[in-house]
Amino acid sequence: MEDFHRNLAAIRARIDAAAERAGRDAAEIRLLPVSKTVPEERLRTAFAAGITQMGENKVQEAQRKSENLADLGISWSVIGHLQTNKAKNVAAFADEFQALDSLRLAETLDRRLQANGRGLDVYVQVNSSGEPSKFGLEPADVAAFLAALPSYSSLRVRGLMTLAAHTDDVARVRECFRIMRQLRDAALQAGTVGDGLLSMGMSGDFEAAIEGGSTCVRVGQAIFGARATPDSHYWPEPPQTK
Ligand SMILES: *Cc1c(COP(=O)(O)O)cnc(C)c1O
Repeated sequence: MEDFHRNLAAIRARIDAAAERAGRDAAEIRLLPVSKTVPEERLRTAFAAGITQMGENKVQEAQRKSENLADLGISWSVIGHLQTNKAKNVAAFADEFQALDSLRLAETLDRRLQANGRGLDVYVQVNSSGEPSKFGLEPADVAAFLAALPSYSSLRVRGLMTLAAHTDDVARVRECFRIMRQLRDAALQAGTVGDGLLSMGMSGDFEAAIEGGSTCVRVGQAIFGARATPDSHYWPEPPQTK
């Protein structure tokens, strides 16, 4: 039997400590456990240990899990890039979508959601690292994109999401978070970003993300253990620089 309680408590303690360092209220920081590649039996155990929301990067995997674990009432968050032709799947089962990055996708999602009589919490994904292979809007395009979203009334815009630069250079990582916070603050002033939440930070950088203003950290491996599947399966790796 795995000790999800212990792993969760350890992450919570680190979240609390990072919040404290930043002079923030830890209660405003949500922990979204990322369950991709974790088999369904383990997710049943995780649910019993109190993990009731789960983030998945790939929509097919997420939908399969949501169907096979439907008896539990897990809240599913899709956090990975979505092709427009899979919008109907997300509209069918997801409670949240954190990787909105095109108006075509917004329009398709909205149409499917209207047909299903559902709404969906969304975050707009931003490419804060400048890595050409990363998904998400360019920072310069975010303001206009947000201003267009009210046309899609079933999408509840909650905030912005990013993957920071994948590097050991902490200064570069913190710069990504700084850019996000600045974009969020500008959008709050413009009244276009709903609650102005910031989804940023993963197992390797969530403490820096909290110090940078994150309100939602997406943590997989620090809870469920290392993944065998390489990250390049989930998001394109930036070209090697050296
Ligand atoms: C997998 C994933 C995470 C979590 O990464 P870990 O290293 O397991 O914490 C966060 N965000 C996205 C978009 C992911 O695909």
